[in-house]
Amino acid sequence: MTSNTGTKCIHEGWRPSEGEPRQLPIYQSTTFKYDTSDTMGQLFDLEREGYFYTRLQNPTNDAVAAKICALEGGVAAMLTSSGQAANFYAIFNICEAGDHFIASSSIYGGTYNLFGVTMKKMGIECTFVDQTLPAEELEKYFKPNTKAVFGETITNPTVSIFDFEKFAKLAHDHGVPLIVDNTFATPVNCRPFEWGADIVTHSTTKYMDGHGVGVGGCIVDSGNFDWMAHAEKFPGLTTPDESYHGITYAERFGKGAYITKATAQLMRDLGSIQSPQNAFYLNLGLETLHLRMKQHCENALAVAKYLKANDKVDWVHYADLEGDEYNELAKKYMPNGTCGVLAFGIKGGREASIKFMDSLKFASIVTHVADAKTCLLHPASHTHRQMSEEQLIEAGVAPDLIRLSVGIENVEDLIADLEQAFAQL
Ligand SMILES: *Cc1c(COP(=O)(O)O)cnc(C)c1O
Repeated sequence: MTSNTGTKCIHEGWRPSEGEPRQLPIYQSTTFKYDTSDTMGQLFDLEREGYFYTRLQNPTNDAVAAKICALEGGVAAMLTSSGQAANFYAIFNICEAGDHFIASSSIYGGTYNLFGVTMKKMGIECTFVDQTLPAEELEKYFKPNTKAVFGETITNPTVSIFDFEKFAKLAHDHGVPLIVDNTFATPVNCRPFEWGADIVTHSTTKYMDGHGVGVGGCIVDSGNFDWMAHAEKFPGLTTPDESYHGITYAERFGKGAYITKATAQLMRDLGSIQSPQNAFYLNLGLETLHLRMKQHCENALAVAKYLKANDKVDWVHYADLEGDEYNELAKKYMPNGTCGVLAFGIKGGREASIKFMDSLKFASIVTHVADAKTCLLHPASHTHRQMSEEQLIEAGVAPDLIRLSVGIENVEDLIADLEQAFAQL
Protein backbone atom coordinates (compact mmCIF):
# COMPACT_ATOMS: atom_id res chain seq x y z
CA MET A 1 0.00 0.00 0.00
CA THR A 2 2.70 2.47 0.98
CA SER A 3 5.88 2.91 -0.99
CA ASN A 4 8.38 5.10 0.86
CA THR A 5 10.39 3.88 3.81
CA GLY A 6 9.37 6.61 6.25
CA THR A 7 5.69 6.11 5.51
CA LYS A 8 6.10 2.37 5.98
CA CYS A 9 7.83 2.95 9.34
CA ILE A 10 4.69 4.70 10.50
CA HIS A 11 1.81 2.98 8.74
CA GLU A 12 2.68 -0.65 7.98
CA GLY A 13 1.66 -3.48 10.28
CA TRP A 14 -1.31 -2.25 12.27
CA ARG A 15 -4.24 -1.07 10.13
CA PRO A 16 -7.22 -0.39 12.37
CA SER A 17 -10.66 -0.80 10.92
CA GLU A 18 -13.69 1.32 11.77
CA GLY A 19 -13.76 2.14 15.49
CA GLU A 20 -10.61 0.22 16.43
CA PRO A 21 -7.77 1.82 18.46
CA ARG A 22 -5.53 4.07 16.38
CA GLN A 23 -2.43 2.81 18.22
CA LEU A 24 -1.30 -0.79 18.07
CA PRO A 25 -3.00 -2.57 21.00
CA ILE A 26 -0.98 -4.80 23.30
CA TYR A 27 -2.72 -8.16 23.19
CA GLN A 28 -1.59 -9.11 26.68
CA SER A 29 -3.14 -12.56 26.54
CA THR A 30 -1.59 -16.00 26.46
CA THR A 31 -4.66 -17.60 24.91
CA PHE A 32 -7.47 -16.94 22.45
CA LYS A 33 -11.04 -18.12 22.75
CA TYR A 34 -13.03 -20.29 20.30
CA ASP A 35 -16.63 -21.46 20.39
CA THR A 36 -16.19 -25.02 19.18
CA SER A 37 -13.53 -27.65 19.69
CA ASP A 38 -13.66 -28.32 15.95
CA THR A 39 -12.36 -24.80 15.16
CA MET A 40 -9.57 -25.31 17.68
CA GLY A 41 -8.67 -28.61 15.97
CA GLN A 42 -8.41 -26.93 12.59
CA LEU A 43 -6.04 -24.32 14.03
CA PHE A 44 -3.79 -27.04 15.42
CA ASP A 45 -3.77 -28.77 12.03
CA LEU A 46 -2.72 -25.48 10.39
CA GLU A 47 -5.85 -25.77 8.27
CA ARG A 48 -7.20 -22.50 9.46
CA GLU A 49 -5.48 -19.22 10.33
CA GLY A 50 -5.92 -17.80 13.77
CA TYR A 51 -4.35 -17.34 17.16
CA PHE A 52 -4.44 -19.93 19.87
CA TYR A 53 -1.39 -19.55 22.08
CA THR A 54 1.07 -16.66 22.37
CA ARG A 55 4.12 -18.94 22.36
CA LEU A 56 3.36 -19.47 18.66
CA GLN A 57 1.73 -16.25 17.57
CA ASN A 58 0.27 -13.08 19.00
CA PRO A 59 -1.51 -10.25 17.09
CA THR A 60 0.72 -7.48 18.53
CA ASN A 61 3.86 -9.35 17.54
CA ASP A 62 2.47 -10.16 14.11
CA ALA A 63 1.65 -6.51 13.37
CA VAL A 64 5.21 -5.47 14.23
CA ALA A 65 6.71 -8.37 12.26
CA ALA A 66 4.55 -7.30 9.30
CA LYS A 67 5.96 -3.77 9.52
CA ILE A 68 9.56 -5.04 9.47
CA CYS A 69 8.61 -7.42 6.66
CA ALA A 70 7.29 -4.50 4.59
CA LEU A 71 10.40 -2.44 5.33
CA GLU A 72 12.65 -5.25 4.12
CA GLY A 73 10.45 -6.08 1.14
CA GLY A 74 9.89 -9.67 2.28
CA VAL A 75 6.89 -12.02 2.16
CA ALA A 76 6.77 -13.26 5.78
CA ALA A 77 8.38 -12.44 9.11
CA MET A 78 8.37 -13.37 12.77
CA LEU A 79 9.60 -11.74 15.96
CA THR A 80 11.87 -13.58 18.39
CA SER A 81 12.87 -12.87 21.98
CA SER A 82 16.37 -11.66 20.99
CA GLY A 83 18.75 -11.26 18.10
CA GLN A 84 20.53 -14.41 19.28
CA ALA A 85 17.29 -16.38 18.97
CA ALA A 86 16.70 -14.93 15.48
CA ASN A 87 20.10 -16.05 14.21
CA PHE A 88 19.80 -19.45 15.87
CA TYR A 89 16.35 -20.11 14.38
CA ALA A 90 17.37 -18.78 10.97
CA ILE A 91 20.06 -21.46 10.71
CA PHE A 92 18.42 -24.24 12.71
CA ASN A 93 15.28 -24.01 10.55
CA ILE A 94 17.28 -25.50 7.64
CA CYS A 95 20.27 -27.24 9.27
CA GLU A 96 20.31 -30.34 11.41
CA ALA A 97 22.99 -32.59 12.93
CA GLY A 98 25.45 -33.55 10.21
CA ASP A 99 24.95 -30.33 8.24
CA HIS A 100 27.44 -27.56 7.58
CA PHE A 101 27.22 -23.84 6.83
CA ILE A 102 29.58 -20.98 6.08
CA ALA A 103 29.77 -17.69 7.98
CA SER A 104 31.93 -14.60 7.76
CA SER A 105 34.54 -14.59 10.54
CA SER A 106 33.93 -10.87 11.18
CA ILE A 107 30.43 -11.32 12.63
CA TYR A 108 29.24 -10.23 16.08
CA GLY A 109 30.98 -12.13 18.92
CA GLY A 110 27.72 -13.54 20.31
CA THR A 111 26.81 -15.02 16.94
CA TYR A 112 30.37 -16.31 16.48
CA ASN A 113 30.08 -18.19 19.75
CA LEU A 114 26.58 -19.51 18.94
CA PHE A 115 27.75 -20.86 15.58
CA GLY A 116 31.22 -22.02 16.54
CA VAL A 117 30.61 -23.50 20.00
CA THR A 118 26.95 -24.07 20.87
CA MET A 119 25.71 -25.24 17.47
CA LYS A 120 28.78 -27.44 17.12
CA LYS A 121 27.54 -29.33 20.20
CA MET A 122 24.32 -29.94 18.28
CA GLY A 123 26.28 -31.53 15.43
CA ILE A 124 26.05 -28.54 13.09
CA GLU A 125 29.41 -27.39 11.80
CA CYS A 126 30.25 -23.82 10.82
CA THR A 127 33.28 -22.77 8.79
CA PHE A 128 34.26 -19.14 9.38
CA VAL A 129 35.75 -17.43 6.35
CA ASP A 130 37.65 -14.20 5.74
CA GLN A 131 34.94 -12.24 3.93
CA THR A 132 37.44 -10.21 1.93
CA LEU A 133 38.71 -13.30 0.06
CA PRO A 134 37.92 -13.47 -3.67
CA ALA A 135 35.08 -15.77 -4.80
CA GLU A 136 37.49 -18.42 -6.20
CA GLU A 137 39.01 -18.82 -2.72
CA LEU A 138 35.67 -18.84 -0.90
CA GLU A 139 34.41 -21.50 -3.32
CA LYS A 140 36.74 -24.03 -1.67
CA TYR A 141 34.86 -23.94 1.63
CA PHE A 142 31.64 -25.40 0.22
CA LYS A 143 30.95 -29.06 0.98
CA PRO A 144 28.21 -31.45 -0.18
CA ASN A 145 26.44 -30.93 3.19
CA THR A 146 26.69 -27.11 3.16
CA LYS A 147 23.19 -25.66 3.71
CA ALA A 148 23.59 -21.89 4.07
CA VAL A 149 25.88 -18.87 3.89
CA PHE A 150 25.74 -16.21 6.63
CA GLY A 151 27.08 -12.65 6.94
CA GLU A 152 26.39 -9.24 8.49
CA THR A 153 25.63 -6.15 6.38
CA ILE A 154 27.91 -4.12 8.68
CA THR A 155 30.00 -6.15 11.12
CA ASN A 156 29.97 -5.50 14.85
CA PRO A 157 32.46 -4.16 16.12
CA THR A 158 34.84 -3.86 13.14
CA VAL A 159 32.23 -2.09 10.93
CA SER A 160 33.30 -3.71 7.67
CA ILE A 161 30.82 -4.01 4.80
CA PHE A 162 29.49 -7.28 3.40
CA ASP A 163 29.84 -7.82 -0.35
CA PHE A 164 26.31 -9.07 -1.04
CA GLU A 165 26.71 -9.79 -4.73
CA LYS A 166 29.82 -11.91 -4.24
CA PHE A 167 28.23 -14.02 -1.51
CA ALA A 168 24.77 -14.26 -3.12
CA LYS A 169 26.29 -15.68 -6.29
CA LEU A 170 28.41 -18.17 -4.35
CA ALA A 171 25.46 -19.32 -2.24
CA HIS A 172 23.11 -19.66 -5.20
CA ASP A 173 25.71 -21.44 -7.37
CA HIS A 174 25.77 -24.06 -4.60
CA GLY A 175 21.98 -24.22 -4.23
CA VAL A 176 21.82 -22.73 -0.73
CA PRO A 177 20.28 -19.53 0.68
CA LEU A 178 22.17 -16.42 1.78
CA ILE A 179 21.20 -15.29 5.29
CA VAL A 180 22.17 -11.75 6.32
CA ASP A 181 22.03 -10.07 9.73
CA ASN A 182 20.95 -6.52 8.83
CA THR A 183 20.99 -5.14 12.39
CA PHE A 184 23.39 -2.21 11.99
CA ALA A 185 22.20 -0.93 8.60
CA THR A 186 18.45 -1.48 9.17
CA PRO A 187 16.17 -1.57 6.11
CA VAL A 188 16.28 2.24 6.08
CA ASN A 189 19.87 2.13 4.81
CA CYS A 190 20.10 -1.30 3.18
CA ARG A 191 17.64 -3.87 1.90
CA PRO A 192 19.63 -7.09 1.49
CA PHE A 193 16.89 -8.77 -0.59
CA GLU A 194 17.57 -6.26 -3.37
CA TRP A 195 21.15 -7.58 -3.51
CA GLY A 196 20.37 -11.30 -3.52
CA ALA A 197 20.01 -12.22 0.16
CA ASP A 198 17.21 -14.75 0.78
CA ILE A 199 16.63 -14.37 4.51
CA VAL A 200 17.31 -11.39 6.78
CA THR A 201 17.69 -11.37 10.56
CA HIS A 202 17.76 -8.53 13.09
CA SER A 203 18.65 -7.83 16.64
CA THR A 204 15.80 -5.34 17.09
CA THR A 205 17.48 -4.46 20.41
CA LYS A 206 19.64 -1.97 18.49
CA TYR A 207 18.45 0.79 16.12
CA MET A 208 14.96 -0.61 15.56
CA ASP A 209 14.09 -0.22 19.22
CA GLY A 210 16.52 2.68 19.30
CA HIS A 211 16.05 3.64 22.94
CA GLY A 212 17.62 0.69 24.71
CA VAL A 213 14.39 -0.53 26.30
CA GLY A 214 13.75 -4.04 25.00
CA VAL A 215 15.79 -7.02 23.82
CA GLY A 216 14.30 -8.57 20.67
CA GLY A 217 14.88 -10.11 17.26
CA CYS A 218 13.24 -10.67 13.92
CA ILE A 219 13.53 -13.02 10.92
CA VAL A 220 12.26 -12.00 7.48
CA ASP A 221 11.98 -14.27 4.43
CA SER A 222 12.18 -12.85 0.90
CA GLY A 223 10.26 -15.86 -0.42
CA ASN A 224 12.80 -16.01 -3.25
CA PHE A 225 14.63 -19.20 -2.38
CA ASP A 226 13.16 -22.23 -4.18
CA TRP A 227 13.35 -25.00 -1.55
CA MET A 228 11.70 -27.55 -3.86
CA ALA A 229 14.37 -26.98 -6.54
CA HIS A 230 16.93 -28.20 -3.96
CA ALA A 231 14.58 -30.58 -2.17
CA GLU A 232 17.26 -33.13 -1.22
CA LYS A 233 19.20 -30.50 0.75
CA PHE A 234 16.24 -29.26 2.79
CA PRO A 235 14.16 -32.25 3.89
CA GLY A 236 12.72 -30.28 6.81
CA LEU A 237 10.87 -28.08 4.34
CA THR A 238 10.32 -30.49 1.47
CA THR A 239 9.28 -33.75 3.15
CA PRO A 240 6.34 -34.40 5.52
CA ASP A 241 6.67 -33.13 9.12
CA GLU A 242 5.53 -36.02 11.29
CA SER A 243 5.02 -33.66 14.22
CA TYR A 244 2.45 -31.79 12.10
CA HIS A 245 0.37 -34.63 10.67
CA GLY A 246 2.59 -35.02 7.64
CA ILE A 247 2.43 -31.45 6.33
CA THR A 248 5.13 -30.64 3.74
CA TYR A 249 5.80 -26.94 4.38
CA ALA A 250 7.16 -26.02 0.94
CA GLU A 251 4.16 -27.65 -0.79
CA ARG A 252 1.46 -26.37 1.48
CA PHE A 253 2.74 -22.85 2.20
CA GLY A 254 4.78 -21.96 -0.90
CA LYS A 255 6.63 -18.69 -0.30
CA GLY A 256 5.51 -18.68 3.34
CA ALA A 257 7.06 -22.10 4.04
CA TYR A 258 10.22 -21.02 5.83
CA ILE A 259 8.53 -18.72 8.38
CA THR A 260 5.59 -21.11 8.85
CA LYS A 261 8.00 -23.92 9.71
CA ALA A 262 10.04 -21.67 12.05
CA THR A 263 6.81 -20.70 13.85
CA ALA A 264 4.95 -24.00 13.86
CA GLN A 265 7.96 -26.13 14.71
CA LEU A 266 10.84 -24.15 16.24
CA MET A 267 8.80 -21.61 18.17
CA ARG A 268 6.44 -24.35 19.33
CA ASP A 269 9.33 -26.48 20.62
CA LEU A 270 11.89 -23.89 21.72
CA GLY A 271 9.65 -20.98 22.64
CA SER A 272 11.84 -17.89 22.17
CA ILE A 273 8.85 -15.61 21.67
CA GLN A 274 8.98 -11.85 22.14
CA SER A 275 6.56 -10.50 24.74
CA PRO A 276 3.71 -8.42 23.24
CA GLN A 277 4.73 -5.58 25.57
CA ASN A 278 8.23 -5.50 24.07
CA ALA A 279 6.77 -5.71 20.57
CA PHE A 280 4.73 -2.60 21.38
CA TYR A 281 7.90 -0.71 22.41
CA LEU A 282 9.63 -1.96 19.30
CA ASN A 283 6.80 -0.59 17.19
CA LEU A 284 7.22 2.85 18.76
CA GLY A 285 10.91 2.73 17.92
CA LEU A 286 10.17 1.74 14.33
CA GLU A 287 7.92 4.77 13.86
CA THR A 288 10.97 7.07 13.97
CA LEU A 289 13.62 4.72 12.56
CA HIS A 290 13.94 6.62 9.27
CA LEU A 291 14.52 9.95 11.07
CA ARG A 292 16.94 8.51 13.59
CA MET A 293 19.08 6.61 11.08
CA LYS A 294 19.59 9.78 9.07
CA GLN A 295 20.73 11.65 12.18
CA HIS A 296 22.95 8.78 13.41
CA CYS A 297 24.71 8.75 10.03
CA GLU A 298 25.15 12.53 9.83
CA ASN A 299 26.53 12.67 13.37
CA ALA A 300 28.81 9.65 12.91
CA LEU A 301 30.29 11.08 9.72
CA ALA A 302 31.01 14.41 11.43
CA VAL A 303 32.61 12.59 14.39
CA ALA A 304 34.62 10.33 12.06
CA LYS A 305 35.96 13.37 10.20
CA TYR A 306 36.83 15.06 13.49
CA LEU A 307 38.68 11.95 14.72
CA LYS A 308 40.47 11.49 11.41
CA ALA A 309 41.84 15.04 11.65
CA ASN A 310 42.90 14.65 15.30
CA ASP A 311 46.63 13.98 15.79
CA LYS A 312 46.01 11.99 19.00
CA VAL A 313 44.05 9.45 16.96
CA ASP A 314 45.97 6.63 15.32
CA TRP A 315 43.27 5.26 13.00
CA VAL A 316 39.52 5.46 12.25
CA HIS A 317 37.23 2.90 10.58
CA TYR A 318 33.98 4.28 9.26
CA ALA A 319 32.88 3.14 5.83
CA ASP A 320 31.23 6.45 4.89
CA LEU A 321 34.58 8.20 5.25
CA GLU A 322 36.31 8.92 1.91
CA GLY A 323 39.38 6.70 1.64
CA ASP A 324 38.09 4.05 4.08
CA GLU A 325 38.86 0.54 2.83
CA TYR A 326 35.10 -0.21 2.73
CA ASN A 327 34.02 3.12 1.20
CA GLU A 328 33.39 1.66 -2.28
CA LEU A 329 31.19 -1.16 -0.94
CA ALA A 330 29.37 1.30 1.34
CA LYS A 331 28.60 3.64 -1.56
CA LYS A 332 27.31 0.73 -3.63
CA TYR A 333 25.08 -0.93 -1.04
CA MET A 334 24.29 1.98 1.28
CA PRO A 335 24.36 5.23 -0.71
CA ASN A 336 22.43 7.08 2.04
CA GLY A 337 24.88 6.14 4.79
CA THR A 338 25.77 3.04 6.82
CA CYS A 339 25.05 3.48 10.55
CA GLY A 340 26.16 5.41 13.62
CA VAL A 341 28.82 2.98 14.81
CA LEU A 342 32.51 3.57 14.17
CA ALA A 343 35.78 2.15 15.45
CA PHE A 344 38.98 4.03 16.20
CA GLY A 345 42.30 3.74 18.00
CA ILE A 346 44.13 6.32 20.09
CA LYS A 347 47.92 6.75 20.09
CA GLY A 348 49.27 5.33 23.34
CA GLY A 349 47.31 2.05 23.17
CA ARG A 350 45.31 0.48 25.97
CA GLU A 351 46.35 2.92 28.70
CA ALA A 352 45.55 6.08 26.72
CA SER A 353 42.24 4.52 25.62
CA ILE A 354 41.15 3.95 29.21
CA LYS A 355 42.18 7.46 30.30
CA PHE A 356 40.30 8.91 27.34
CA MET A 357 37.12 6.95 28.02
CA ASP A 358 37.09 7.74 31.72
CA SER A 359 37.38 11.46 30.90
CA LEU A 360 34.22 11.55 28.77
CA LYS A 361 31.35 13.46 30.32
CA PHE A 362 28.18 12.17 28.69
CA ALA A 363 29.26 9.52 26.20
CA SER A 364 28.61 6.57 28.51
CA ILE A 365 30.51 3.31 28.86
CA VAL A 366 27.97 0.52 28.31
CA THR A 367 27.78 -2.94 26.74
CA HIS A 368 25.38 -1.75 24.11
CA VAL A 369 25.35 -0.05 20.75
CA ALA A 370 23.00 1.62 18.38
CA ASP A 371 20.57 3.70 20.34
CA ALA A 372 19.76 7.38 20.77
CA LYS A 373 22.46 8.01 23.39
CA THR A 374 26.13 8.06 22.46
CA CYS A 375 27.99 5.21 24.10
CA LEU A 376 31.29 3.45 23.78
CA LEU A 377 33.17 0.34 24.71
CA HIS A 378 36.81 -0.70 24.74
CA PRO A 379 36.71 -4.44 23.93
CA ALA A 380 40.26 -5.02 25.25
CA SER A 381 39.22 -3.72 28.69
CA HIS A 382 35.63 -4.98 28.65
CA THR A 383 34.12 -7.72 26.48
CA HIS A 384 37.54 -9.25 25.63
CA ARG A 385 39.44 -8.35 28.82
CA GLN A 386 40.62 -11.89 29.56
CA MET A 387 42.66 -11.93 26.35
CA SER A 388 46.35 -11.11 25.90
CA GLU A 389 47.48 -8.59 23.25
CA GLU A 390 48.34 -11.48 20.89
CA GLN A 391 44.97 -13.15 21.40
CA LEU A 392 43.21 -9.85 20.72
CA ILE A 393 45.02 -9.39 17.44
CA GLU A 394 44.21 -12.98 16.48
CA ALA A 395 40.53 -12.29 17.19
CA GLY A 396 40.71 -9.26 14.91
CA VAL A 397 40.19 -6.83 17.77
CA ALA A 398 43.03 -4.32 17.97
CA PRO A 399 44.07 -3.71 21.62
CA ASP A 400 43.42 0.00 21.11
CA LEU A 401 40.05 -0.43 19.32
CA ILE A 402 37.31 1.77 20.76
CA ARG A 403 33.80 1.09 19.47
CA LEU A 404 31.90 4.35 19.45
CA SER A 405 28.15 4.28 18.90
CA VAL A 406 27.25 7.82 17.90
CA GLY A 407 23.83 8.88 19.13
CA ILE A 408 21.43 11.55 17.94
CA GLU A 409 22.45 14.37 20.29
CA ASN A 410 23.58 17.67 18.79
CA VAL A 411 26.87 16.79 17.19
CA GLU A 412 28.67 19.94 18.43
CA ASP A 413 28.13 18.71 21.98
CA LEU A 414 29.50 15.27 21.12
CA ILE A 415 32.61 16.70 19.53
CA ALA A 416 33.13 19.09 22.46
CA ASP A 417 33.00 16.11 24.83
CA LEU A 418 35.59 14.19 22.78
CA GLU A 419 37.73 17.33 22.58
CA GLN A 420 37.88 17.82 26.35
CA ALA A 421 38.69 14.12 26.88
CA PHE A 422 41.56 14.32 24.36
CA ALA A 423 42.84 17.44 26.13
CA GLN A 424 43.38 15.32 29.27
CA LEU A 425 45.72 12.86 27.55
C1 LIG B 1 23.48 -7.38 19.32
C2 LIG B 1 23.61 -8.17 18.08
C3 LIG B 1 23.11 -9.47 18.00
C4 LIG B 1 22.50 -10.18 19.18
O1 LIG B 1 21.28 -9.60 19.48
P1 LIG B 1 20.60 -9.63 20.95
O2 LIG B 1 19.34 -8.90 20.70
O3 LIG B 1 21.54 -8.95 21.89
O4 LIG B 1 20.39 -11.07 21.29
C5 LIG B 1 23.22 -10.13 16.79
N1 LIG B 1 23.79 -9.54 15.72
C6 LIG B 1 24.30 -8.28 15.76
C7 LIG B 1 24.90 -7.69 14.55
C8 LIG B 1 24.22 -7.55 16.95
O5 LIG B 1 24.72 -6.31 16.99
